[in-house]
Amino acid sequence: MIKKAEFVTSSQKYTDCPPPFKPEYAFIGRSNVGKSSLINMISNKKALAKTSSTPGKTQLINTFEMDDTWYLTDLPGYGFAKVPKGVRGGFNKMIYDYIEFRKNLVNVFLLIDSRHKPQEIDLQFIQWLGKKGVPFSIVFTKLDKISSTEYQKNLNNYKTELLKTWEELPVIFSSSASSQIGKLEILGYIDSLNEH
Ligand code: GDP
Repeated sequence: MIKKAEFVTSSQKYTDCPPPFKPEYAFIGRSNVGKSSLINMISNKKALAKTSSTPGKTQLINTFEMDDTWYLTDLPGYGFAKVPKGVRGGFNKMIYDYIEFRKNLVNVFLLIDSRHKPQEIDLQFIQWLGKKGVPFSIVFTKLDKISSTEYQKNLNNYKTELLKTWEELPVIFSSSASSQIGKLEILGYIDSLNEH
């Protein structure tokens, strides 16, 4: 359990992020995937990450510090249609540079809505992570919104899709911020990586 969770800073690019002297974990996903809710759940704070009703509003890298030992990064949501192409380009570069060059980044948690079939934008992002050799895990969100049968079906779809290009599956978590599911598993995983 996290005892202390604090906002550190918002940055426009990775070079403005705090000095890279603590292990860092980034959370990313399509807009509205439930990222802020998940961050609030795992940090034990109701409104640490701001749940945005305006997709694509916060286009900044938000850094939080957990228990004085590691950083949690809230990356802007991707995949919203309303942002003009030019803006989207800059936004992508900001995220991609952060992920590729941030020295202390240990793992990226890619959030995916468990109700949806594999989406091109997520699959492309996964391919890019693979190409760059960035360690990542998948976190399926909003588990409470579907039946376990449906979830199993969607999960198997995803695994099949991933195994077309990957030899091994990434670590996969299932979560629900409303039902407090997945919190201990995700935190346990972060702890285990911090111990290395
Ligand atoms: P973000 O844009 O990815 O940060 O997503 P938010 O955390 O703001 O959530 C988007 C919407 O989904 C909000 O209306 C949340 O209340 C809802 N939501 C987020 N997580 C869950 C969940 O686990 N279960 C359910 N039922 N709704 C959720």
